[in-house]
Amino acid sequence: MPGDIEKVGVLIIGAGPTGLGAATRVNQHGHKDWLIIDQADDAGGLACTDTTPEGFLFDMGGHVIFSHYQYFDELIDAAVGSGPDFWNTLERVSYVWIKDRWVAYPFQNNVSALPKEDQIKCLIGLADAKVANAVAQTKPKNFDEWIERVMGAGIADMFMRPYNFKVWAVPPKKMQCEWLGERVATVDITRAISNVINNKEDAGWGPNAVFRFPLEGGTGAIWKGVAKLLPKENQRYGPKNQVTGIDKDAQVVTLQDGKKIQYDALISTLPLDIMMTWLGQKKQADVLTHSSSHIIGIGIRGQCPHGLKCWLYFPEDDCPFYRTTVFSHYAKKNCPADDVKMRTVCLGDGSETPDSKEESGPYWSLMFEVSESYCKPVNRESGKFAGGTWDGLVKETIQGALNTKLISGSDQIVSIYHRRLEHGYPTPSVERDGVLVDALPFLRQYNIWSRGRFGSYKYEVGNQDHSLMLGVECADNVLFGAKELTLNHPNIVNAKKNMELLYSKTFHASHN
Ligand SMILES: Cc1cc2nc3c(=O)[nH]c(=O)nc-3n(C[C@H](O)[C@H](O)[C@H](O)COP(=O)(O)OP(=O)(O)OC[C@H]3O[C@@H](n4cnc5c(N)ncnc54)[C@H](O)[C@@H]3O)c2cc1C
Repeated sequence: MPGDIEKVGVLIIGAGPTGLGAATRVNQHGHKDWLIIDQADDAGGLACTDTTPEGFLFDMGGHVIFSHYQYFDELIDAAVGSGPDFWNTLERVSYVWIKDRWVAYPFQNNVSALPKEDQIKCLIGLADAKVANAVAQTKPKNFDEWIERVMGAGIADMFMRPYNFKVWAVPPKKMQCEWLGERVATVDITRAISNVINNKEDAGWGPNAVFRFPLEGGTGAIWKGVAKLLPKENQRYGPKNQVTGIDKDAQVVTLQDGKKIQYDALISTLPLDIMMTWLGQKKQADVLTHSSSHIIGIGIRGQCPHGLKCWLYFPEDDCPFYRTTVFSHYAKKNCPADDVKMRTVCLGDGSETPDSKEESGPYWSLMFEVSESYCKPVNRESGKFAGGTWDGLVKETIQGALNTKLISGSDQIVSIYHRRLEHGYPTPSVERDGVLVDALPFLRQYNIWSRGRFGSYKYEVGNQDHSLMLGVECADNVLFGAKELTLNHPNIVNAKKNMELLYSKTFHASHN
C-alpha cells in the first residue's frame, strides 16, 4: 500500500562483487529475510561489461583476475562453469611504451631495452637508492618518497612518477605508501644489472604468469552468473531502486521512486563519501578522495598486429591513457564474428569515411583507460559525434593510439565506445586512514556496514576477489559477529601463502 514501509532483515545496497558476496553468504547460511537492490539494470557494478551497437564488448577497464581466495575461485566456477569450455587461459604479456619503444614489464628489470644513457641513469639511481636505504633511519613519508627510495631517481623520473600521476590523477606526494604491500614490484638490483649486461628481456611474473578470462560475455558474465545463483525474488534492479537517502535513526532508506525500506542491518557498497555526506559528516567525506575513470574502446577491422600482448602501460604525454588492453586477445567473442558486415566510422588518423560500405571482418579491439580528478582535468565534453568524427577525449585517445603505434593511420575503426565512471579509483591519500578509523565505527552504531571498493575505500583490497570477500566476511560479521580479515588485515590477505593457510573455508564446503 502507498505510504507503507517495507521491512527486511538484511538490506544490501549494490549488486557489484561486494554486494553479491554478501548476498551469496547470507543465502548460503539459509537466511530468507534479505534483499539486494541496485540502481543499475543488471548485476556487476564496476565489474560489468558493455556491448556497443556494433557488437564489441568492453569491460570497465582491464579486469584481470588475481585471486587470493579459494572461495572466490569456486564461486566464479559455479557461476560461469569450470575449465576450458568456459574460460580462456592467457599468459600475462605486458609492456611499457616509452622512448618510442616497448620495454617489457616490470620496467625495473628491463632497462636494458632503453637507450644507453637512460640505462646508466636507471642503474646509478638503483645503486644510490640501495645505499641510501641501507642507512635510512625513517620510513618513507609518502608514495613519492617510497618510489625514490626503492627505485632510485632514474626510474622514478622516467617511469614511476609520470606513470603514477597518469593512473591516480594525483601527485604521488599526496599518497601514502602503506597500501603498497605486494602491489608494486620492488627491485632486485643484481637482477637489474645482470639483465643489462646480458641484454636480456625479463618479464618476471613468477608463479602468477597466467590469468583466466570468460570465453563469453566479458568480466560482466562472471557477476551476472553469480547473481543467477541467487533467488530472483531477493534481487531488484533498475533506476527506481536507487537509494536517495537514509534515516539512520529509524533505519530506513528512501528509494528514487519514493518507496521506503526499513532494515535491521544495512550492508552498503555505495561510495562511503556519499554515505557520510548523507549522514551529515561532510568534513570526513571531503577527505576521502577518488579519481574518475574514462573507458574508451575502439573496434577495428583487420588482423590484430599485437601478437600475445595483453595490457600496456603509457607513462609519457604522447597519449592521454595510462593503460591499454588488447581486449580482442582476451576472448574471440569480445568482437563480432568475422562475417558480420559493418561500415567504417573513421580511419586511424581520424579522417572521416562518409562513403564507406558495409564490409566483413575479422575484427580486433583496444580498450583505453584515462583518469580524471580535481588536479588532472580532462575534456569531459568528449564522445559527441561532430560531422562523422569524435571530439574531445575520444579524439585525443585515437590520436594517442596513433602516436604510440597501437594503430596505423589507415586502420578502419568500425566501433567507438566511451563511458565515464565517476568513482573509478579510491585514492590511498595520506589522510585516508585517519577518516576510515572513525567513519566505519560511526556507521556501525546505526547498524550500517559500509564495505567494498568504495564502501570501505581501501584500494589495497579493492579488486574483485577482495570485494567479493569483503561482502562474504561482512555477512558473517552481521550474522555471527565473525572477524573480517580482508577489511582489517589487507597485508595478510594479500600474502597469498598466508591466505591458503588461514582461509580454508570454501564456497562448496560451507554450502553443505
Ligand atoms: C578502471 C578499473 C580497473 C579495474 N581493474 C581490475 C582488475 O584488473 N582486477 C580486479 O579484480 N578488479 C579490478 N577493478 C576493480 C573491480 O571493478 C572492483 O573490485 C569491484 O567492481 C568492486 O565491487 P563493489 O561491489 O565493491 O563496488 P561496485 O562494483 O562499484 O558496485 C557498487 C554497486 O552499487 C550500486 N550503487 C551505487 N550507488 C547506489 C545507490 N545510491 N543506490 C543503489 N545502488 C547503488 C552501483 O550501481 C554498483 O552496481 C577495476 C576497477 C576499475 C574502475
